[in-house]
Amino acid sequence: MKSRTKVAVIGGGIAGCSTLYHLVQEGWTDVVLIERDELTSGTTWHSAAQVTNFGMNQTMVGLKSHSIALYKKLRDDPDYPVGYHHGDGGIRLANTEAQMQGYRHFTSMARGMGVEYEILDAEECARRHPLISTENLLGGLWDGEDGDIDPAQLCQALAFHARRAGAEVYRHTAVTALTQKGDDTWTIETTKGTIDADIVVNACGYRVNEVAEMMGVHHPVASMEHQYFITEDIPAIQEAGHRMPLLRCPISDYYSRQEKGGLLVGFYEQDCKTWGMDGISPGFANDLCPDDLDRVMEVLEGAFERMPVLADVGIKRIVNGPITYTIDGAPLVGPIPGKTNAFCIIGLRAGLGEGGGHGWLLAQQIVHGEACYDTWCIDPRRFTGHDNVELTALKAIEDYQNEFRFHFPHEHRPAGRPAKTTPLTPIFAAEGAEFTVVNGWERVEYIKPSNDFHPTLSFEFDETFDLVAAEVRNVQTNVGLCEVNGFNRLEITGSDRHKFLDRMICGNVPKRAGRVGLGYLLTHHGMIKCEATIANIPASDRGPERVWYGSAAASETHDMDWLQAHVQPDEDVTIQSLTNDMTILVLAGPKARQVLSDCARGDWSKAAFPWLSLRECFVGIAPATVMAVSFSGEWAYEIHVPNASLYAAYLALKAAGERHGLQLFGARAVDSMRMEKGFLHWKADLLTEFDPFETGLSKFVKMEKPAFIGKVALEKRQSDGPQRKLVTLKLESTSHPAHSGASLMLDDVVVGTVTSGDWGHRTGLNLAYAFVEPAFAAQGQKLSIDICGALVNAEIIAPVQYDPDFALLRK
Ligand SMILES: Cc1cc2nc3c(=O)[nH]c(=O)nc-3n(C[C@H](O)[C@H](O)[C@H](O)COP(=O)(O)OP(=O)(O)OC[C@H]3O[C@@H](n4cnc5c(N)ncnc54)[C@H](O)[C@@H]3O)c2cc1C
Repeated sequence: MKSRTKVAVIGGGIAGCSTLYHLVQEGWTDVVLIERDELTSGTTWHSAAQVTNFGMNQTMVGLKSHSIALYKKLRDDPDYPVGYHHGDGGIRLANTEAQMQGYRHFTSMARGMGVEYEILDAEECARRHPLISTENLLGGLWDGEDGDIDPAQLCQALAFHARRAGAEVYRHTAVTALTQKGDDTWTIETTKGTIDADIVVNACGYRVNEVAEMMGVHHPVASMEHQYFITEDIPAIQEAGHRMPLLRCPISDYYSRQEKGGLLVGFYEQDCKTWGMDGISPGFANDLCPDDLDRVMEVLEGAFERMPVLADVGIKRIVNGPITYTIDGAPLVGPIPGKTNAFCIIGLRAGLGEGGGHGWLLAQQIVHGEACYDTWCIDPRRFTGHDNVELTALKAIEDYQNEFRFHFPHEHRPAGRPAKTTPLTPIFAAEGAEFTVVNGWERVEYIKPSNDFHPTLSFEFDETFDLVAAEVRNVQTNVGLCEVNGFNRLEITGSDRHKFLDRMICGNVPKRAGRVGLGYLLTHHGMIKCEATIANIPASDRGPERVWYGSAAASETHDMDWLQAHVQPDEDVTIQSLTNDMTILVLAGPKARQVLSDCARGDWSKAAFPWLSLRECFVGIAPATVMAVSFSGEWAYEIHVPNASLYAAYLALKAAGERHGLQLFGARAVDSMRMEKGFLHWKADLLTEFDPFETGLSKFVKMEKPAFIGKVALEKRQSDGPQRKLVTLKLESTSHPAHSGASLMLDDVVVGTVTSGDWGHRTGLNLAYAFVEPAFAAQGQKLSIDICGALVNAEIIAPVQYDPDFALLRK
């Protein structure tokens, strides 16, 4: 074993082998893989190893397409050929119109990545898969790229090619301890000696948290037992004269593919079981859990009804093995939160299909800092604070039980709720609030008309439409109150805080005490990294002069890591998180000023407290910091209150608001209003795939500044011209909003992708944001949007549709 290496990948399943292979492909050959047993002796060896191209967002589709292209290349490589049945095709079944609508949406979304799914009716499903009945079947989604691969051969081939280029693989070598040194490199102790590495990668499958513990962290990954069986040969398969396509069934929770002359059928039973919660025996390698078909009987019945041929065929083999899940079902691939030079590729529940792509995106992140796609949907930093072992297990069970049931727009499933609340959550619940979940926080979505109000899950405008319209109307004509909990708040102190922020932010940084501004942080490649509200708090008995850096609720760890990584050793800068200590109450509407004046001493006139001002005060008896900022476009205050005083502040505002028509409004109303103002959401519209010019944020960039992170790359991008441009569209539809990922079409050609869509209740417009090819991005351009299979006429319009001169805020 070497004594030092650049990257040590721990774990030799598909995750580790793919990472090693792609590091070499990116040009880093001084890399090693350390495996405690043989390669693939964790979950990988017994995987059903189906490889599909279906994903619910473009990043997932893109990375799966990469897997498929790579596996085809490896299959055809004469030096180390891999058994890969590519192109058997696969059907995702549906028995409701709502599921079919979803499939049509995902078809529109995948087209933007160059992937074509087909929508089939029930008869066509049965024609392509002659073993299935059309009973209780509406149709399905066809994915022609689906197939299955030999998992052991795949990993051996990846390791072979990596080794040939200079990488080393150490088998039967268990990692036993990890120590980070003063220079942020690592010492790795193993059963075969010690090796130093600049960077470590945790790819340890179900043993993820054994290695995480060696680093002093815990990952939100839980294992579930998962079973499939393989049947004896089925004559009807032979007779069909072609391989059977894959099946995925959200109606009865099973899947199947062809295995030799029979079928492999796997189950996602409701009566499911976590595995290894209290530790895993060190001897569990190349091993399985005991068979337990009793548990899957109910699911089995559904599979038998769909494929009656199963009733007449014997079972050859049963496999029950551990499979890993995370809190939201997507893996964790990227930097380990709170650590430097440490990455992970864990929580893979479809690791064979996705592993090629995940290793590719991880290697890019390690070598270049970012990947070619925005990887937020798999970023390990997307959960903060609540991602403990108990919640992870609950969400893993829920996800397993719903394996093939995609989330509908606005769907938030019940397991593990409420995870994060404020003192106001039960009060809002008593007032009829429906809650959405933002990074674990229960946030008011809208106020229900009655307790038994349950809008239909669908891709259309639903029964909340009029409720949201009424909330918006009250904000526009009177005044509304909304709680924005979990908003990320980093307090930056020290005499160099503005010098530091000047380097981090690509535009002007407000520096005057009592002033607020918006700033954007870029990657070293000049792309959008973070969006932050910079608020300068004056010195007072509450503290010294300081900055509050505010950003989206899920961004706490992401932004903290980025900021901490760039504080220079000689800089007087301290950053601490106040995210869990304070909450924002937003008071918005023409009567907001009267309400605040009635419960907070001081002159709140626009002359004394104009837009973008900040002041410390008391709301009733609650200490508060008020900022004149607005995400709705109405005159508004963000009232920042310590959680201990939140109820007191709420009571004061409520009492003062009574005679001004104060009513609650929720996140859906906010979304409607922000789209009319051209305001963007981090990770919906603000993506690392685009630079600030492409995103329409030129006014927040000051190229004349001597330096900021990303400036050099941005200069080059500016001279090359934009690849895409963010535009606002109005749609000719009153039934459907545009959904994130939907394709923009010019005749039959995809020219863009939707990032957000909603109805603007003040303007009466069905609005969407989309990134579009520059040639088709001019105002007035007519395009169409593929919304759930229907082409809807759309026109590019000005980005700000409501109060375009900002008169309500400025004057
Ligand atoms: C029954 C079943 C069917 C499945 N079917 C499919 C499917 O059809 N399609 C699909 O895409 N996915 C499927 N999966 C999921 C897929 O198999 C997994 O996502 C994938 O194999 C996980 O790979 P991994 O590399 O993350 O983990 P593993 O394969 O578990 O690899 C982790 C490796 O890390 C090593 N390791 C652990 N600790 C240490 C240490 N301290 N030092 C050194 N090495 C260590 C282990 O020995 C192991 O080799 C299935 C899973 C199961 C259980």
